Amino acid sequence: MSKPLKPATTLLRAGRPHNGWINTPVTRASTYVFDTVQAWRDTREQRETQRLVSYGARGTESTHALEDALIALEGGDRAQLYPTGQAAIVTVLLAYLKPGDHVLMTDAVYEPVRRFCSEHLSRLGIEYEYYLPDGSDLAARIRPQTRMIYAECPGSLVYEMMDLPAVAELAHRHDCILAVDNTWGAGLLYRPLELGADLSVIAATKYLGGHADVMMGAVVCKAGVWPALQRASIDFGQTVGADDAYLVLRGIRSLAPRLRQHQDNALRVAAWLQQQAEVAAVLCPALPGDPNHALWLRDCHGTNGLLSVEFAAGISPAATERMVDALALFGLGASWGGFESLVVPANMLRARTLTDWSGRGAILRLHIGLEDPEDLIADLAQGLQHLQD
Ligand SMILES: *Cc1c(COP(=O)(O)O)cnc(C)c1O
Repeated sequence: MSKPLKPATTLLRAGRPHNGWINTPVTRASTYVFDTVQAWRDTREQRETQRLVSYGARGTESTHALEDALIALEGGDRAQLYPTGQAAIVTVLLAYLKPGDHVLMTDAVYEPVRRFCSEHLSRLGIEYEYYLPDGSDLAARIRPQTRMIYAECPGSLVYEMMDLPAVAELAHRHDCILAVDNTWGAGLLYRPLELGADLSVIAATKYLGGHADVMMGAVVCKAGVWPALQRASIDFGQTVGADDAYLVLRGIRSLAPRLRQHQDNALRVAAWLQQQAEVAAVLCPALPGDPNHALWLRDCHGTNGLLSVEFAAGISPAATERMVDALALFGLGASWGGFESLVVPANMLRARTLTDWSGRGAILRLHIGLEDPEDLIADLAQGLQHLQD
């Protein structure tokens, strides 16, 4: 037996057809016709447990190829695709939770999920409760009705980490499902299923697509939790088109070298930012001194292009917004993970319920893209001058 292939190699081969072409043709499809009533009936029965083609919404060769690549990427048993990352998250919540259930939700969650919880989980009689991003209060918050622990690691905006193997052990001891948003890790940098999670959710819109030209979400999960997720996904009409699946699969082929370059550029920019008088801290778990650095060293396989800059006391959010307006190479917009650099102001008072961010400096979230980092540093340097105006 030869040595197992490294992830970067696996990603080039996963989901390939076996007919000579190295890329899977795009199968645009709704109707699939059967030769006989018997074949139609057999397929309808078998598709509940096996992956077969039977109807466009149930998947095509194009979506199956992407699912195979995602299963290889995350090390899971099954994968399901969604039109957005947000759709993947809410389907995970609704697939397993029913009225009367209780879900523990990380305080570091991607912000739009908060509104889904307050407007829709509560309307459905599903109780949700935030826990600290490091998970230290989880054991005390578990109730007999708790069915799920929902994590995001590293967390949105400031990248808090938790001891995921310990949280998985706690969850399973209490018969809870552990779902983890792995958008930051993109399957290569962090591997929640190997650390004990049952489901890993990725906004493929970000690094997997990688080119800011497609929206998609994905869940990769272990076999035991698959049937409920599959049924909910079908019942909620969640599916993706073949062209979008093709774009994401194409993006995945270059995921490893892109992430390495994002990392190198981000670390260069971080080192420069740390020397600036206006900067109180650069938040990124890969930086020594970051509160999450020890867990990052233990559980992650690199970092990406995300950095958040906390400015020194006395620099107002309005001043940092003047800086954002002055930046030329950093676009002001959502959905990091594409090739170019982005910036957004982070309102931590709104983004956290339990963690007290009052008294901390104003924060800008940067996504360091694939530009030459010297150009980015020069742009940030001229941007910093606008803090004083
Ligand atoms: C962007 C993002 C999502 C949502 O992805 P969309 O495809 O934009 O819906 C979910 N989780 C995290 C952590 C994200 O950054």
